[in-house]
Amino acid sequence: MKTLKFRPTSARLKTREGKIAHPDFFAKNRYKEAKELLKKKNTMDGFSAARISADIVAGSRADTHWRATDYAHYWHKLREPRLNEKELGKLEIVSPDSLQKSFGIKQFGWGNWVTLEDRQNYLAALHIALEDLNKVLKFNNNIGIGNNLTVTFGARGIPKANAHYEPTNELINLARYHRDADGSKFDKMIQSGGIGSLAHEYGHFLDFFAGKFLEKNIKEYSITGGISTRKDRLEVSGKMRTLADDILEKIIWSKPNEVHSKYYERLLVFLKKNNSTSDYYLRRAEIWARAFEVFVFWELKKQEIENFLLVKSKIAYPSSVYLNEAEMKKIAPLFKKFLAEFKKKTINK
Ligand SMILES: [Zn+2]
Repeated sequence: MKTLKFRPTSARLKTREGKIAHPDFFAKNRYKEAKELLKKKNTMDGFSAARISADIVAGSRADTHWRATDYAHYWHKLREPRLNEKELGKLEIVSPDSLQKSFGIKQFGWGNWVTLEDRQNYLAALHIALEDLNKVLKFNNNIGIGNNLTVTFGARGIPKANAHYEPTNELINLARYHRDADGSKFDKMIQSGGIGSLAHEYGHFLDFFAGKFLEKNIKEYSITGGISTRKDRLEVSGKMRTLADDILEKIIWSKPNEVHSKYYERLLVFLKKNNSTSDYYLRRAEIWARAFEVFVFWELKKQEIENFLLVKSKIAYPSSVYLNEAEMKKIAPLFKKFLAEFKKKTINK
């Protein structure tokens, strides 16, 4: 049974001989039938997206639908430098099914209010983001650690949260863009929703995955201490737990338990200035995840890459709640040690 790949854009559709075909080549005769299918909208709702492409048989109604559906594509703008045609071809924007296989992802999911166009854009952007994330992690593309991680878009929303991680399900959800945000669809996408949060949520995934499966402890579920705002070391045995202690200690203190780091001071000033009554920014898991996203940002920067789905822009990071470049330089070697240990206990096991 021949399955078909997602087409990122009709302009890039290829004929069997590999030549670029005119969009009409595929669409013309099948347009009417595809429109009917769109009306019924019965194939892509809920959480079934991951299975769809595997079921697409050449000549079937679903095949007709995909071939005839043109959509605005702006996913390629979510990364600098932009990929050229050749690189895009190499990257080969594939179906959710093969994307799952390539990166060891358990499942993809979609909220009911994410349109087909949005799904394709988020999925294609995710493909590039996972490739880029692997350039930092060096996990041999096994980002989901053997099908343990689920990624959803615009599903399971928590009000006001642009993204969240569910430790019980190993699930990252990135919110869809806000419809009432300004500008074009791309503008909305780049300035609202879960964009820029993937690395942060992945930081939570590493934290909880290590604590839950690799260095289990009855008292401490995650290796960082989760929502605890403790500033001293947790002192729980385990190599990764010790490294998490090292990382958090270095972030919080310039002299352990005596003098706060400049970063932690900035954080306290920021919270005071904003009359914040929430302890959110001081939670150990959040300090860790924010540090991890800054780590990913600077590691990619060294490779002259900016990926807007993975991390925020360089404008966001000098803010008080984030470590600056100089501060991250001191932490980065510890994150690298942690990742090497994580890899040893999972991918290289
Ligand atoms: Zn977080």
